[in-house]
Amino acid sequence: MTAVRSAARALRGVLARSPRADLALLPTPLQALERLSSHLGGPRILVKRDDCTGLAGGGNKARKLEFLLGDALERGADTVITTGALQSNHARQTAAACAKLGLKCVLVLVAPAQIPTPAYRDSGNALMSRLLGAERVELKPGESAQSVMDQAAREVRRRGGTPYVIPRGGSCLKGDLGYVECALELAEQTLAQGERLEHVVLTTGSGGTQAGLLAGFHLLGIQPRVTGIAVSARCAEQVPRVVDLAAKTAQHLQAGASLPPEQVVVVDDYLGAHYGAPTPEMVEAVKLAARLEGLMLDPVYTGKAMAGLIGLVRQGRFKQGETVIFLHTGGLPGLFARPDLFGGGD
Ligand SMILES: *Cc1c(COP(=O)(O)O)cnc(C)c1O
Repeated sequence: MTAVRSAARALRGVLARSPRADLALLPTPLQALERLSSHLGGPRILVKRDDCTGLAGGGNKARKLEFLLGDALERGADTVITTGALQSNHARQTAAACAKLGLKCVLVLVAPAQIPTPAYRDSGNALMSRLLGAERVELKPGESAQSVMDQAAREVRRRGGTPYVIPRGGSCLKGDLGYVECALELAEQTLAQGERLEHVVLTTGSGGTQAGLLAGFHLLGIQPRVTGIAVSARCAEQVPRVVDLAAKTAQHLQAGASLPPEQVVVVDDYLGAHYGAPTPEMVEAVKLAARLEGLMLDPVYTGKAMAGLIGLVRQGRFKQGETVIFLHTGGLPGLFARPDLFGGGD
């Protein structure tokens, strides 16, 4: 324990040298899900409430944006450019962060092949990013998000401004530091609350959340099993992505640190047909969390991650008496974009 404490102090020192904007409400609570745990009859399940980070509705991007926009401000940026789906939580929280810091925000948005309901275009994150004052550019078929972002950056420079481009999901070295910080927070919080830090289950999309957590735990010298439930790519693509991000993050924080690639565990059985595609397991998970715990999940990210957690419990992957922490990464506005998925019957 003292070894972890001194590693934590060292890691805090390194993180403190990164410029940071004050955007997120931290620490987020760690709560027991008693009724869900007893309903499933498996391990003790806790939830880490990163849906409560504030910043226009909460979610994991608030932690990443603290470091990303800290960097942007240090570089004198006046315009932030990023990309995501039409219902991107990352785009919404980036728009909120820019509003708060007085920066201009350009969102390059990717529409799905088929818009499922009018709400998908008008409600949820789309409504919020409009209200937050972001300039929204919808990608035309055949265009690449990167080239439209590059073009927007050139335009800003041409007018004498300074652009700052954030990749999809804010997953890059700076963004991932937000989840190194979360690893620290979890280590200290579990210690203070007398809980065990054995398993963490979370959504893995652009990968920075899982990568930052893994890098953080590794530098703390602890090895809870971190299972990413894939929502956008199969294991063949997702595992190397997370391995790469985690290794770079660990390296950046501590020269010579190398993260054993076998620590990157991804399960892609709950992804469904593609990113955003509903699954029966997701619908069941969203309803169970709501009705047993008053805990709201979303159809694109946390509903699938909870479906994964429930599936792993039912497969007996956790031992009786073990503790599993579900990282709630937010996403609630996305629920209001898909009222069609939860309408019928019970
Ligand atoms: C972006 C997002 C994720 C995925 O995080 P990554 O770092 O992109 O893997 C999970 N949940 C929600 C609600 C998100 O918006």
